Amino acid sequence: MNITVAGTGYVGLVTGVCFAEAGYTVTCFDTDTEKINTLSAGISTIYEPGLEEMLVQNMDAKRLRFTVSPAEAYSGADFIFIAVGTPEREDGSANLDFVESVAREIAEHARGKTVVAVKSTVPVGTNRKLAGFFNPRSGISIVSNPEFLREGSGIADTFQAERIVIGTDDKAAGDKLAGIYRRFGVPILRTGLKSAEMIKYASNAFLAAKISLVNEIANFCEVTGADIEEVALGMGMDSRIGSQFLRAGIGYGGSCFPKDTKALVKLGEEWGCDFSILKSVIEVNSRQKQKLVNAAIGIAGSFKGKRAAVLGLSFKPFTDDIREAPALEVIRQLLDEGADISVYDPAAMGKMREIYGDQLYYAETPEEAVKGADFAFVLTEWPEITAFPLEKYRLFMRQPVLLDGRNCYSAEAAEKAGLTYVSIGRKAVL
Ligand code: NAD
Repeated sequence: MNITVAGTGYVGLVTGVCFAEAGYTVTCFDTDTEKINTLSAGISTIYEPGLEEMLVQNMDAKRLRFTVSPAEAYSGADFIFIAVGTPEREDGSANLDFVESVAREIAEHARGKTVVAVKSTVPVGTNRKLAGFFNPRSGISIVSNPEFLREGSGIADTFQAERIVIGTDDKAAGDKLAGIYRRFGVPILRTGLKSAEMIKYASNAFLAAKISLVNEIANFCEVTGADIEEVALGMGMDSRIGSQFLRAGIGYGGSCFPKDTKALVKLGEEWGCDFSILKSVIEVNSRQKQKLVNAAIGIAGSFKGKRAAVLGLSFKPFTDDIREAPALEVIRQLLDEGADISVYDPAAMGKMREIYGDQLYYAETPEEAVKGADFAFVLTEWPEITAFPLEKYRLFMRQPVLLDGRNCYSAEAAEKAGLTYVSIGRKAVL
C-alpha cells in the first residue's frame, strides 16, 4: 500500500510519519526544496514532541522518504493525502490555490486507482470542485478527510484520534480509506462530502466561541470582583459544558481558529447567512489580545525608555508555531509604544527572529529575559515559564510588574512576592 502526503507542514509531516510508523510505505512531497532537503537529512522542520525520533526510525526502516518530484510522489500512489495550507486571503476567505495546484498535479501524474483524501481545511463545496480536476475515467476518487490534530500533541492525536471523519459520495473510496485507518483502532464517522467539510469548520467555530465566551465572562469577573478560575471550575463540573477549553486568557491564536472563523463568516456571506455569533467571537478575541498592553499603559502611563520582557511566543506550548500568536500582537503594540523588548521561548525564537530580526533581544533563559525589565508579559504556558519562580521577577526586574496572560500564577502568591500583578478575570494586585 503506497501512501503519498502532499505538503510537509504541521499536518502533512505528522500524518506522513505516523502512517509510516503504522507500517505503510510513505512518500512525503513538498514544493519547498529546502524543507525536503532538511527532512531527507533526518531533521524535523517543525517542533513537535517525539516527531524527529519517529521520522528517523521510519526513514531507517525504508518506510518513509521525501521528494520534490510530483511524478515520483503521485504516479505510484494508492492513496494521496492533501495537507497543504489553506491560508487566509485579505478578504478573510480561504485561499485554495495550493489545494488546486496539488489537484492539477495529481491529475497529471496519478496512474491507476487512487483515493485522494483532502485533509486541508476547505470550505463546503471545495471537494466537489476538486473532483472536477480529474477525468471521470481516471480511477481517481476524492474523499474529504478533515484533520483534527492539535500541534504539540500531533502524534498522540493521530494514533488516538477521537474521530476520523470520512466524507464522500463514493462509497467504495470511503471504504478503502476506512481500511487504511483500521490499524489505528479509532472511531470512524462516515458522512457525505459536504458534511465532512462542515464538521471541521463547525468544530473550530465552536471551540473559538467557547474561548471568547469565557474571556468575555473573565473580563466581567474583573469588573465585579468574581474570580474566573473559580467560575470556570464550577461551570466545567456541568457535563453539558465540560471542563476543557474553559481557560481564560490573552486570546486564541494559531493557524486554524483565526483563519477558519473568518473563512466561515465569509462563506456565510457568500451563501446569504449572517454568522453574527462568530463575528462577535472574532472581535472579542482581537480585543483580548490588546488587553494586557493596555493594562500596562494604565499602570505606567508610557513605555518610552522602558523595557518589556515577553515570556512565551508560540500560540500555545509544545509547538514552535507563531502564526496569529497573541505574542505577535503584544510585540507589535509594545514596539509602537517605543518599548525595548526582550523575548524568551523554548522553541519559537527562530520563527520570531525571521519576522523581527534585530528589533528584539532574544534571551536564552526566562531569567535573562526579565533582567532589568519594567514589565514582564507571560503569554504561553510552557512548563519552563510556569515553573519560573515569582521571587525571581522581583529579584531580576527593575520594576516588578507582571502581566500574566495565561493565569499561570496565583494572585495571592504574586502579592506575597511583592509584585504588581495583572492576570485575566481575577482581581489585579496593584
Ligand atoms: P503548513 O503551512 O504548516 O504546511 C503546508 C505545506 O504545504 C508547506 O510545507 C508548503 O510548502 C506545502 N505546499 C504548498 N504548496 C504545495 C504543493 N503544491 N504541493 C506540495 N506541497 C505544497 O500548513 P499546516 O498547518 O500543516 O495546515 C495544512 C492544512 O491543514 C490547512 O488547511 C490547515 O487549516 C489544516 N489543519 C491544520 C492544523 C494545524 O494544527 N496546523 C490542524 C488541523 C487542520
